[in-house]
Amino acid sequence: MNQSTANVDLEGTVFDVIVVGSGFGGGTAAYALSRAGLNVLLVERGGWPLRDETDWNGRAILLEGRYRGDSVVRVRQLGAGEAVDTFPNQVVGGNSIFFGGAALRLRASDFGRWPIGYADLEPHYGAAEALLEVHGRGGDDPCEPPRSSDYPYAPPDLTAPARRIAEAARQLGLHPFQLPIALNHRGAREPKCIRCFTCDGFPCRIGAKNDVTQTALAKADPEHLAVVARMTVTKLVERDGRIAGVEAVDRDSQRRFVLRARLTVLSGGAIGTPDLMLRSGLDRLDASGALGRYLMRHCNAMIGYVFPFRTNPELVNHKQICISDLYESVRGQDGTALGVIQDMCMPPREVVRVLGPAGFRWAAAASANRIQTLLCIAEDEPQAENRVSLEDGVPLVRHEYTAGDWRRRDRLVRVARKVLRKAGGLVGKMRPIDSFSHAVGTARFGRSATESVLDIDCRFWRLPNLFVVDGSFMPTSGGVNPSLTITANALRVAAAISSRFPEFAGAGA
Ligand SMILES: Cc1cc2nc3c(=O)[nH]c(=O)nc-3n(C[C@H](O)[C@H](O)[C@H](O)COP(=O)(O)OP(=O)(O)OC[C@H]3O[C@@H](n4cnc5c(N)ncnc54)[C@H](O)[C@@H]3O)c2cc1C
Ligand code: SF4
Repeated sequence: MNQSTANVDLEGTVFDVIVVGSGFGGGTAAYALSRAGLNVLLVERGGWPLRDETDWNGRAILLEGRYRGDSVVRVRQLGAGEAVDTFPNQVVGGNSIFFGGAALRLRASDFGRWPIGYADLEPHYGAAEALLEVHGRGGDDPCEPPRSSDYPYAPPDLTAPARRIAEAARQLGLHPFQLPIALNHRGAREPKCIRCFTCDGFPCRIGAKNDVTQTALAKADPEHLAVVARMTVTKLVERDGRIAGVEAVDRDSQRRFVLRARLTVLSGGAIGTPDLMLRSGLDRLDASGALGRYLMRHCNAMIGYVFPFRTNPELVNHKQICISDLYESVRGQDGTALGVIQDMCMPPREVVRVLGPAGFRWAAAASANRIQTLLCIAEDEPQAENRVSLEDGVPLVRHEYTAGDWRRRDRLVRVARKVLRKAGGLVGKMRPIDSFSHAVGTARFGRSATESVLDIDCRFWRLPNLFVVDGSFMPTSGGVNPSLTITANALRVAAAISSRFPEFAGAGA
């Protein structure tokens, strides 16, 4: 892995490809394009993960924002009149550094409003599972889509808290299965996961999480990939109907750079990418008017129940169970999936004290070791009004859920409550999740330039050498966590780019 660009003449080189952003989308594209022999520069505004003791400290990571960046995003949501300034995390690896490892495929029925079908993505899902070294077992998920390859590794043994949830769900007639997970339990590399209690939401201090730095970037061709960290791309440089490169600023020295490439791949995330495209004036070339719109993030909630015993005395990570029985139950009525329920670890006590359910924070913190939680992930609908726009030069996110989104989430919450009660829970509380951790949709791909921002190859319709590979491309959110789909699609797009590079990159390629 090339962690430095010390030997690279950043301004004197015309790269084959510049990739902006190093999350699942950008990191994966950089991996695949470098392995295809293209000279790739990956530009990321965050620094490298620190991986020291503090990375497992709840206060430092979740409350004090150790990785919080300096790029403001203004958010107006959930009926609030005022927008609130937020500062999303910035780090090499993007949100993969903080993700919980759940690696599920969308189902064939989720592709109804997509320009490609499940079969088109299926081989890339297999390649994504191999790249992320997913541990899972086919055949247990009641609505699992067909697969042509096995999971690379078997899932880890069930922990006691996960077994408790699985047994309760089974007693209710549900079919819980082991969540496919991208944590290094059985992989070839070291170190192995030690099942600490600070995984979801935290960087892995020992590097056992299969995040982008440990997978895509570690497996990229170091001769063909340079990674520059702590550099923010501020604008795309457009010349003669093409993107000639990007303007960027080094966050430490404040030095400004103009970086040049034959082809540019954007992967700043579903908020960062439309921000950069709008900042570069690309809305004037977008005939669909969809750029920045149709922002989705799932309608998520966490449900915690208090038990008459300590629920996780060994303090192990037990994000291991998924329930998908009701996935298709609203398809006929809503045209969407319902979603899934997943096992989830209770956040550390000091975090619950600050972020627990309103009115119950101290009580929840006091009984934290007797609480067990489930996560409900409901599909949300794409709406044009939910969008990223630029206001006074700052990205403004506006987002409201529909009645249907709430209804789907509440239906999952009712089932989650039943499971927790059956498992021995006494009283419970639901906490809505208001983060944009599952943000997708703001540069949707499609079949026509009047309806979508990107074409079927995730190429911006009016600029032949500009692509997008983060979660922005998704026209619907589906009912499962998005990372594996983003990774699979980035592999699909990278394959299209490398096989048709001279055509896309044009003269000089
Ligand atoms: C706590 C948490 C837990 C999660 N758990 C799961 C899970 O278990 N399973 C799952 O599937 N999903 C999970 N997710 C969601 C998942 O992490 C995201 O869907 C996914 O990482 C998005 O990938 P991306 O490539 O679209 O963008 P991102 O990961 O957001 O990457 C975008 C990158 O681009 C950089 N960037 C943006 N703009 C610029 C710019 N102008 N210049 C330079 N760099 C820029 C950003 O700093 C960032 O690193 C979780 C998310 C969070 C926050
Ligand atoms: S549970 Fe495993 S992969 Fe996750 S942070 Fe802990 S050691 Fe790392």
